[in-house]
Amino acid sequence: MSASSALSLLQTIFGYDRFRGRQAEIVEHVAQGGDALVLMPTGGGKSLCYQIPALMRPGCAVVVSPLIALMQDQVEGLHQLGVEAAFLNSTLDNNAAREVEQRYLRGELKLLYVAPERLLTPRFLALLEHTPAALFAIDEAHCVSQWGHDFRPEYIGLSLLHERYPAVPRIALTATADAATRREIVQRLALEDAAQFVSSFDRPNIRYRIVEKDNARKQLLAFIEREHDGDAGIVYCLSRKRVEETAQFLCANGITALPYHAGMNAELRARNQTRFLREEGIVMVATIAFGMGIDKPDVRFVAHIDLPKSLEGYYQETGRAGRDGLPSSAWLAYGLNDVMQLKEMIESGQAPEAQKQVERQKLNAMLGLAETVACRRQVILAYFGEQSADCGNCDNCLNPPTTWDATEAARKALSCVFRTGQRFGAGHVIDVLLGKATDKVKQHFHDRVTTFGIGTDMPEAGWRSVLRQLLAAGYLQTEPEFGGLQLTDTARPLLRGEQALRLRGLPDKKRDKTERDKKRSAASQDIAPQDEALWQRLRQKRRELADEQSVPAYLIFTD
Ligand code: ADP
Ligand code: MG
Ligand code: ZN
Repeated sequence: MSASSALSLLQTIFGYDRFRGRQAEIVEHVAQGGDALVLMPTGGGKSLCYQIPALMRPGCAVVVSPLIALMQDQVEGLHQLGVEAAFLNSTLDNNAAREVEQRYLRGELKLLYVAPERLLTPRFLALLEHTPAALFAIDEAHCVSQWGHDFRPEYIGLSLLHERYPAVPRIALTATADAATRREIVQRLALEDAAQFVSSFDRPNIRYRIVEKDNARKQLLAFIEREHDGDAGIVYCLSRKRVEETAQFLCANGITALPYHAGMNAELRARNQTRFLREEGIVMVATIAFGMGIDKPDVRFVAHIDLPKSLEGYYQETGRAGRDGLPSSAWLAYGLNDVMQLKEMIESGQAPEAQKQVERQKLNAMLGLAETVACRRQVILAYFGEQSADCGNCDNCLNPPTTWDATEAARKALSCVFRTGQRFGAGHVIDVLLGKATDKVKQHFHDRVTTFGIGTDMPEAGWRSVLRQLLAAGYLQTEPEFGGLQLTDTARPLLRGEQALRLRGLPDKKRDKTERDKKRSAASQDIAPQDEALWQRLRQKRRELADEQSVPAYLIFTD
């Protein structure tokens, strides 16, 4: 068991010249019987980290893997290399399963892939009693994290392996590795004494870009047509409905797009996945149900038309682009509604407060990335505990974003939220700022709404951007019951004029009207002449307040 035998296995069996990154160290450590936790980005080459030790140690390695399709791919791949491997999962009938078990007992297998629920059955544990495993590999180990979106309850039971077979080395592998998830994996899988191998999470060939959402589908289409015509890619959406609609929209515009989500029947889903893997230039439109373990080297872009819930999720999803190392894009369109919707989902959810707290932190990290004016890669890597210089290959590095002094605009927006009673969504608040006499505005109009029409110097898109950034930065929050906007304590110094604020975007007046602006101004009319009485009352009120306070009357002071 020497490094050279590991290397010769790599070369003769797998046909690769040399180990990548920390593979050699990891292989050596596990082959010699050590426990390991391996954090390596998607496409980094985690499989070899247990496949080669499996060939170096006597006996058969047991690999826990959460996805049936993944197991089959890997076993097929190993067969082609001449390695004796098999899987046990729900696709096998009783006879076939028995046959695999017999081969294991006869010592004919080098790798046995097992679904987690099956591993923990008395029948499988009896096999392990009879013939101890050479090692246990726990792939996609983040599935043990209750707060991640890939949570698999059966993974929790895997700590049993350590209790029962303390002498068998274990290697847990994942591409999801923020500090909290890492701690959870260590604790739940009893890996306190395992060596940790943390690779760099940088994927230098991926160009990150985050754009402000106006009409997501049109923006997506333009992005694909301009930069990825004919390329294979993945488009992530938040809901099944959006998946269906977006796939149809792309198809109608001449792009070969296929839908994928958990609501589709298994057969169609499998068919779409196979087409995506085998054919060229297919765009998969999917929920996050798609992608774990998919090994397609030439995915040229990953697009998100809805904001992901966490930075880890975003990183993992975008990591499916460019596994072959060639230039690839990660493109995200994001807007005010995304922030409102995700915050609301957390606040109105049934989860216990401690979990909500974690969800908020995860979302905030994602929002931090979306709003940053610094290098995107730097922000991503910092989240995984790595320091880096400006990358030169993200939107912010290539076109440093403009910022503008938004202090006054922010004070107006925050005041308007307060004056309208901290119970309305962004649409209504913006209507009031813009002085639009919609039915809802008229219905709720009263003397205290001194913020009516104070924002006519900026179009709707500008206000949406301001509210979005105020929400993302925590000056505003959504209240749990109806999702209305509310001030937080952070807003106080800003309102009191003790703090200035710069936001990203265009200086407001130079903003073009977006499509949404055009639509909305067609739908609502500005204050009509017959509302003159309303205006007079308002002006009078403002004068009174201004006399009392000698400051712009719309400003509120929250102390
Ligand atoms: P992960 O599980 O970390 O996402 P995989 O184990 O699926 O990654 O490997 C990704 C790709 O990289 C595979 O096609 C694999 O064959 C290839 N690969 C892994 N290690 C090496 C290596 N040392 N040299 C060349 N290619 C490698
Ligand atoms: Mg893998
Ligand atoms: Zn950069």
